[in-house]
Amino acid sequence: MNLALEAPPLHTLTIADRDERFPVNRVFCVGRNYAAHAREMGKDPDREPPFFFMKPAVAVVDASNPVGVPYPPKTGNYHHEIELVLAIARGGRDIPLTQALEHVYGYAVGLDMTRRDLQLEARDKGRPWEFGKSFACSAPIGALRRARDIGHPASAAIMLSVNGQTRQSSDIAKLIWSVSECVAYLSEYESLEPGDIIMTGTPEGVGAVVTGDVMRGEVAGLDPIEVRVTG
Ligand code: MN
Repeated sequence: MNLALEAPPLHTLTIADRDERFPVNRVFCVGRNYAAHAREMGKDPDREPPFFFMKPAVAVVDASNPVGVPYPPKTGNYHHEIELVLAIARGGRDIPLTQALEHVYGYAVGLDMTRRDLQLEARDKGRPWEFGKSFACSAPIGALRRARDIGHPASAAIMLSVNGQTRQSSDIAKLIWSVSECVAYLSEYESLEPGDIIMTGTPEGVGAVVTGDVMRGEVAGLDPIEVRVTG
């Protein structure tokens, strides 16, 4: 096959203790999946069906080692959202809830970095969230741990600190929609494909970072991430 241009780079993630890497296809993100975060965003945390938005593969940054991400343009309110991330190994559509975990390759710690000012302006005008959420380097993600090695965590402390001070602290047991439910529900609307990533939503405590800040994100049982905001 002759390509008119050099093919765009494949975006991949580190897999802990493995030589092979995980190729990223699409990144789906769940909105407002912890009740306390829904409240801080001014929304009713009732158990409405989950909703999703997407980030492009160029959003993904391998954060398996300490890494920097650039402060993005056109924002004065650049927010951290610490999230449990899962990776899809096997695609499918209309995946039954009871089989959903069989499609999961593994788990990692990730950040859904957000231009909050642009997101809220779009939200309030009924416009898409793209400018707030879907930009380059907006999804630093740590090393994946394979489900075959660690199982499927249903409860684990999730935490984010900035410059050593805790900003977000919760437990993934508080997810309104579980990993299984997110996979099954999403697959009713869109056939999942190998390489897809799902970011499961952030707990309360989101807030702004500025150039020079160092974010440390943890989910118990997974590899922590350290992400510095560069100028
Ligand atoms: Mn998020």
